[in-house]
Amino acid sequence: MYLCPRCKERLSYNDYSESGEGSCELCGDILDHVEDYFVMFEGETKKYDFSTFLIGLRTPKGNLRKEIELAEKTGVKLRSYKDEFQVALGSKIEAELPYRADFSRPEIVFTVNQENMDYSIWIRPIYLKGRYLKKRRGIPQSPWIKPGIGKEREKSISEYIGLTACDLLKGSDYNFYASGREDVDALMLGNGRPFYVEIKNPRKRTFDPARISEEVLKFSGGGVEIIELSPANPVEIEDMKTQRPDKTYEVGLTIEGNAIDGIEEILKKYSNLRINQKTPRRVLNIRKDKLRERTIRSMEVKQYNEGHLVLVIRAEAGTYIKEFITGDNGRTVPNLKDELDINVKIDYLNVLEVK
Ligand SMILES: [Zn+2]
Repeated sequence: MYLCPRCKERLSYNDYSESGEGSCELCGDILDHVEDYFVMFEGETKKYDFSTFLIGLRTPKGNLRKEIELAEKTGVKLRSYKDEFQVALGSKIEAELPYRADFSRPEIVFTVNQENMDYSIWIRPIYLKGRYLKKRRGIPQSPWIKPGIGKEREKSISEYIGLTACDLLKGSDYNFYASGREDVDALMLGNGRPFYVEIKNPRKRTFDPARISEEVLKFSGGGVEIIELSPANPVEIEDMKTQRPDKTYEVGLTIEGNAIDGIEEILKKYSNLRINQKTPRRVLNIRKDKLRERTIRSMEVKQYNEGHLVLVIRAEAGTYIKEFITGDNGRTVPNLKDELDINVKIDYLNVLEVK
């Protein structure tokens, strides 16, 4: 059995003294290449801004088995050559470069594949969380899918935020997620809607939240503003995905019909009102037709004169507010149109609060 000098040394076992041709039967000579991979690591990671790393070695099937069998046979205590390699390369990096090994949340993982002697690197994505305000109507939350429908020239909120953050952190791609969505023609005001963005393969890891917010505002021509931007961890993001916050809306309506006496009093009765909504006709082409029950938490009149009514409505997550107002041909019951016995047109819809 031929062993390389490094394996002989780590085994401190002298029975394997015969010299031989070919590669080491335990480590396949990978332990002789620590210096080479150090150089590759240094070259490959230079363009990334990071401070922690982890080294991995993928070994061909069966290789480690050989060591275990040897250990069992001889009783020699043995650190596997895989561990040996990882420790050797990791220690060299820590000693000579300004990075430190991190076994729980490394920012870069450098994995050597012994099968083809190649390597790969994985970069920990960066997650940012914040709240966005939409100050111009017509901006969709996600990119338009069907060409020819909608205003293709208007970018989406996810693009304004994702592309900006990706550019500033020098990432390769991004994912955007928000807690619910407003209609394309609705504004998102107040303290905004929670979102997060994941930046993949970022070359930079430090950022100035104010700078990102500023760039998003500029890129969107004042249409999208970000507040409370900060780094996020995966736990916070999972929380955001499971929360279903209530929404508060301001709705401007034009109503036809006789003046409604005591409208404030009438609407107060609708606090905690359970309503049944079938999937709105306007989204039937993309969503399954089903019945859902939602709660209108409260409704109050902000303004009422000469056929114009402005309401502030607080509702459970997932309520279709427009349909609650118009009734959607009887698909939402009860609804405001029938309750007040009016003809109604929605002039605007703004989201005031997501909480
Ligand atoms: Zn060896």
